[in-house]
Amino acid sequence: MSSFVRAYSTVQPGLRPGITKGFIGAIGNTPLLRLKSLSEETGSDILAKAEFMNPGGSVKDRAALFVVKDAEEKGLIKTGGTVVEGTAGNTGIGLAHVCRAKGYKCVIYMPNTQSQEKIDLLRMLGAEVHPVPAVAFDNPENYNHQARRHAESLNNAVWTNQFDNTANRRAHIETTGPEIWAQTEGRLDGFTCATGTGGTFAGTARYLKSQDKNIKAYIADPPGSVLHSYIQSGGKSFDRAGGSITEGIGQGRITDNMAPDVEIVDGSFCVPDEESITMLYRLLDEEGIYVGASSALNVVVATKLAKELGPGKRVATILADGAYRYQSRLFSRSWLESKKLDGAIPEHLQKYIVL
Ligand code: PMP
Repeated sequence: MSSFVRAYSTVQPGLRPGITKGFIGAIGNTPLLRLKSLSEETGSDILAKAEFMNPGGSVKDRAALFVVKDAEEKGLIKTGGTVVEGTAGNTGIGLAHVCRAKGYKCVIYMPNTQSQEKIDLLRMLGAEVHPVPAVAFDNPENYNHQARRHAESLNNAVWTNQFDNTANRRAHIETTGPEIWAQTEGRLDGFTCATGTGGTFAGTARYLKSQDKNIKAYIADPPGSVLHSYIQSGGKSFDRAGGSITEGIGQGRITDNMAPDVEIVDGSFCVPDEESITMLYRLLDEEGIYVGASSALNVVVATKLAKELGPGKRVATILADGAYRYQSRLFSRSWLESKKLDGAIPEHLQKYIVL
């Protein structure tokens, strides 16, 4: 073999070898990015898993694949059947893709507070979408209970129940956690992310701690979620006060995906929307990274955790999805003003408010 052929015939590191089998084969194996300006600011490596690079555009593609595979393995669904789920949108988008790839119908119930972009995308992917009033889990009209009842009313249908189906957490024990461990070559001091179902946090943290019990696992919580008060009070308080513009995160209860992994939580931070929005615009300006508000919140907490751990450490977090699916909100001056968040964007970043 000539030296030319030798030089170009090796598979590049990180390149998927061979031809990937459609959508499903493209899930996972996302890059771990070092955020330069925040790493310099904290004196630690701030590492962010680029989950917006999954084919459905979010971390939830992983869970979507695992809950459908779980239903198939348990014989709960057969070809031509229907997958029904309650979701803030991202799991639904992942499911819509997985269902198309596998020949299932997809029915989605979601709170009507979620962005129009997610609803539109779901419909474009062929899902039947039911936006319903956003009521608490203990109300029978909550989107999850409506999804369960819909599945029960059909033959050959499954409610994948991402909140309490631990196949969701397993996706991160088997993929996200091992990927971060391999990408950091086993040198990591902290991991943090926000929780919706808790699957990403619990699965990733559980795997990383199984490799090195000294890795600190911190929950990143928005206002209105109970987890921060639950952790800080040692499990005694469930404070729901406040609300947040972040979508897909914040929880009013301990889901089965979090329990019993709530015991592995080392701490938590609750981040006001103002700080998350400032970070969202900073990431765009300083790193060229275009992500949604939950990702920005995650990065805020990664920097707080790095500062708490002291310099010279490594903290990893999750960039859960891209900003495309919220852009009519996050980059609109009138929307930001309506949420009293325009003041959170410093003068030199105002140029990014383009809508
Ligand atoms: N960020 C976004 C944008 C999401 O949509 C979700 C899931 N709803 C999460 C974070 C949280 O992921 P998990 O359900 O694994 O806790």
